[in-house]
Amino acid sequence: MIRAIVGANWGDEGKGKITDMCADRSDIVVRYQGGANAGHTIINEHGRFALHQLPSGVFHEHITNVIANGVALNAASLKEEMQTIIDAGIKFNLLISDKAQVLMPHHVLMDVYEEERLGDKKFGSTKSGIAPFFSDKYSKVGVQVWELYDKDFLLEKLETMYDKVNVQFKYLYNKEPIDYREVYNTLCEYAEFIKPYVADTSKFLRNAIKEGKNILLEGQLGSLKDTDHGIYPYVTSSSTLAGYAAVGAGIPPYAIENITVITKAYSSAVGAGPFVSELFGEEADELRVRGGDKGEFGATTGRPRRVGYFDAVATRYGCEIQGATEVCMTCLDVLSYMDTLHVCTGYEYDGKIYTDFLTTDKLYKAKPVYTTMPGWKCDIRGITDYNDLPKEAKDYVEFIEKELGVKVSMVSNGPKRNEILYR
Ligand code: GDP
Repeated sequence: MIRAIVGANWGDEGKGKITDMCADRSDIVVRYQGGANAGHTIINEHGRFALHQLPSGVFHEHITNVIANGVALNAASLKEEMQTIIDAGIKFNLLISDKAQVLMPHHVLMDVYEEERLGDKKFGSTKSGIAPFFSDKYSKVGVQVWELYDKDFLLEKLETMYDKVNVQFKYLYNKEPIDYREVYNTLCEYAEFIKPYVADTSKFLRNAIKEGKNILLEGQLGSLKDTDHGIYPYVTSSSTLAGYAAVGAGIPPYAIENITVITKAYSSAVGAGPFVSELFGEEADELRVRGGDKGEFGATTGRPRRVGYFDAVATRYGCEIQGATEVCMTCLDVLSYMDTLHVCTGYEYDGKIYTDFLTTDKLYKAKPVYTTMPGWKCDIRGITDYNDLPKEAKDYVEFIEKELGVKVSMVSNGPKRNEILYR
């Protein structure tokens, strides 16, 4: 079976845990979009890991992990990430697409300089070079992995590339130029390091599909950060949708049979942009500290996440745009302290109530309309059967399921791999 695990919201929905959990039954786990700009947190018998580029199957020796063509390959941070896994005594299998593009030193610098230049108008970028990377990719001046091994061609390409980059650095940002020969040397080091892993991963995956292998396509971020369908321009620079997995991994679109969409039992978001059901002040602080396994702080950046009540309007949209065939709700245990639960079931804008997701300008002005429900007020960690949950917890899940119009097939009641309730 080919299954995509993707986020319904702003990212950080707990995809890492669910992917790690489902990985047991997979032969191959694939990263097909994004880059090192976001991270999954995985807690298992080996420890607690923040994965940024490595697919979540690395903890299982029988799995082939694929970094596919759609990924922005940050070779320097990949090397560090691989080292933490190796240091934990874990052996893994990895393939890197020969058509993945390589994140270059100037991408990160441009990201930093551009945010500096924008000042108050900045996007809240993670400054990992993702937007400049994708600008270069779609301007067709980026470097695909195979180009690293054609040395003369590469040197010439870099000379032309940095002629332009340095004009921008000098005149737009007032910064020092980059020496393309230094970049060349760095890229040659990357080339050596990744060489054992480089392969035609699209062909590998197409063959695996023919052989009936179980493949897991692992998404990064969530629907609302999708370049086209998210809260533009507060989005990421690549598609976060399951539909993009076909392009980002080089497989037929119809091969993806199952789209498991992950959503948290409350909302959390990083970066700028509208967030209708956002909480502030003490209420937010309490949820932020209690959220996730160690509070709601970014796995890559450590930035405090913005938190709020569950937004059924945004999540229904997030599920529909992903094409959800099933939903997994994570972090239900986090809400155990709340006296009253709030679910945002409508947006009030310009005197009307909307139940459809709106464009960014309207979202900024929209006020949440809440449906309230009583809390369950007891610890639900340790429960292993959905039916044993308190009635109020089941009512909450089932109310949300109705709002989403998709089966909530799994409920996660703790960060560990085995803390999962099937329905
Ligand atoms: P991802 O990028 O979608 O994988 O999400 P993150 O890893 O950034 O954030 C999810 C956080 O929630 C991590 O710290 C997980 O360990 C944690 N987590 C996942 N599922 C649960 C759950 O059911 N309960 C609790 N308390 N934490 C969870």
